[in-house]
Amino acid sequence: MRIAIDMDEVLADPLHKFIQLYNRDYGVPLDLILDPGNEIYHHVPEHINNKWFEYINEKGFFRDLPLIEGSVEAVKKLQENHEVYIVSAATEFRNSLEDKWDWLAEHFPFISWRNIMFCGDKIVNTDVMIDDRAKNFVGFNGRKLLFTSPHNLLLTDYERVDNWQQVLDKLL
Ligand SMILES: [Mg+2]
Repeated sequence: MRIAIDMDEVLADPLHKFIQLYNRDYGVPLDLILDPGNEIYHHVPEHINNKWFEYINEKGFFRDLPLIEGSVEAVKKLQENHEVYIVSAATEFRNSLEDKWDWLAEHFPFISWRNIMFCGDKIVNTDVMIDDRAKNFVGFNGRKLLFTSPHNLLLTDYERVDNWQQVLDKLL
């Protein structure tokens, strides 16, 4: 099978970084937990709820994101039996391109440049797509695995995976 894997909130954890930056600049608590269905901007004071857009556009934002637990080992295992593609809507954020490339080279050096797709809309023809954003499933004909993130917890129309072990249980 060909498997398309998203980066943010699937391999990498931008939420953690947003909270750190909001904590550094505005004292937002580091142990902030997002309510189901919410984005980070729902949980900060109104006058700074657009600040996330500045953070995400800064060079370096994507370079040091923490890994989602178990992602490296799981992708390695999937690669043994399947063709894995990283598919990230990176062109939305100009400064993210180099950072995302370097981040992948650091944490996923076993993924070839041939298997990395930085794009806008995810028009891909794979058998499986693993993504936390349901909008990326529109028009996709393969098996859709919604990777759990606070913002998608209220969605019920998709096959859901809460963590990388569940992905392996379904696909290996
Ligand atoms: Mg994502």
